[in-house]
Order: sequence, then structure tokens, then C-alpha cells
Amino acid sequence: MDPRMHLHVLASGSKGNAALVEGPGGSVLIDCGISRRELLRRASELGVDVEGATAAIITHEHSDHTRGLPVFYSHFEGELFATAGTASGHRDLASLPLNLVSHHETFELAGMVVSTFPTSHDVADPMGLRFSVVDGAGEVTDAIGWCTDTGFLTADALGALRDVRILGIESNHDTDMLAHGPYPAFLRARVGGELGHLSNAQCAEALPLLVGDETETVVALHLSEKNNRPAVCVRALASALGAEPSNDDFTEARTTDGHVSVCCASQVEPLTVW
Ligand SMILES: [Zn+2]
Ligand SMILES: [Zn+2]
Repeated sequence: MDPRMHLHVLASGSKGNAALVEGPGGSVLIDCGISRRELLRRASELGVDVEGATAAIITHEHSDHTRGLPVFYSHFEGELFATAGTASGHRDLASLPLNLVSHHETFELAGMVVSTFPTSHDVADPMGLRFSVVDGAGEVTDAIGWCTDTGFLTADALGALRDVRILGIESNHDTDMLAHGPYPAFLRARVGGELGHLSNAQCAEALPLLVGDETETVVALHLSEKNNRPAVCVRALASALGAEPSNDDFTEARTTDGHVSVCCASQVEPLTVW
């Protein structure tokens, strides 16, 4: 049995989000914002079984995180989890048998310890997630952090995301591209506001606090297609960690000691982080 978890990002961005955390005893789906058909296609591309997941956790009710859930659930035998605010925040969710959790809770799923923490977003009660594997002696042997759709990182988020082996963290927009891009003023204010999305600069600023001895991979999530570019994002995050480009187009970087790599998830191409 592989004692490590793996992160499979199936879709990340404003057109749809879904990821599978694969643990030693099963897997958990995070969000279901793409169609079931596309979800299954991408999962099979990565060689993972998304319908066999133990559970699905919904971080918040925006449709880019929930759109595919009703149809997916009609073929799914696992359990669903969300906060009460999320459950009542969208009519598609209200009819589903959601197990309610708070944004400050720890529970076990598929042999993993799941901890929730609050995020700051323009919805009822959003949350981020930390997954841990704990050995018989109570020691954490592996951890994955997941945090998207937040205008800033709450103190709880900073605590939960610290020193995980795989850090999946939002790096939505470049502030200059947002300021001079195609969005109307109200949307610019929403995206860049405290209830919006984390910028490359905010993400970069947090990385020195979050990346520790255990951290191997930082995966930038929920990149804007209009107000960001993978190379712009990775460059910002890499410079915060003293990392150098590890490919020609600067969409991947690695610290000079080789310990931490930085990459970004895509709206269209699924990605596995071992
Ligand atoms: Zn989103
Ligand atoms: Zn959202």
C-alpha cells in the first residue's frame, strides 16, 4: 500500500474545478464543476477512478465548483460533504443528500484525516481543505493542502496549509493584468477584493510562510484565462522561493536545492502530482 497521497487536478479555473485526492485507503473528490462526461474522460486520461471515490467535498456553491454535481451524483455511491451555507446556497445542491460539516472541522474519509478551514469569498460559507495521513503512532506521514477562491488567506488557512507536502493554492490573477485587462470595473473590484480571488502577488507573499521542510510541490490553482498566464504566475511564485525555471517556457520552476517544484494547474489539461 502506497503510504503517500496523490493529487489529481482534473480542472482548475473559472470554467470548472474538480480534483481527486487519492489516499492509501480510497480517494476523495474536491468540487465537481465540469460535466460528468468530461470528468470521467479526464480521470481516465490520468488512470484514476473518480466514480469509485469514497466521497465528494464541495468547497462552495459557485457553479464552476458545482455544475456537474447533480448528474455526477446520480451515478455516484459515495457521500457528499459541504457546509450548511454551501448546501443552501444553490438550488442544485439543495436537493442532494449532503453531509453537513463546518468550516472548522476534522473528520476521516478514505483513510485520510480531512480538516476544513474558512476561506474569504462572496458566498455563504466557503472552505479550504487539508488532507493528512497519520500512522499508528499518531504521526502525520503525508499532507496535502487545497485552497482556492479566497480574497485573502485567513489565519486558519495559513495554519492548515503550512508545510504540507503538496500545496494546491490559488494564484488567480496578475494585479497589473487585472487592472488593465478586459474586465469591467465592478468585476475587477470583485476579483481583486477581499471576497474575491488570490493574486499571484498574494500567493507569492504567503509561500515563504507556507513552504517548509516537507513541501515538495506547489501547484498554482484557478488561474484566470484573461488576467494571468502560466509563465507570469510561475515566475511570481518562483521568485518568492528563490526557484529557477525548469523548462523553456517558465511554466515550471524548481528551487536550486531541487527540493521544491512549482507548477500550475490548467483549465483543460488534467495533472497528477505524485
Ligand atoms: Zn471558482
Ligand atoms: Zn468561487
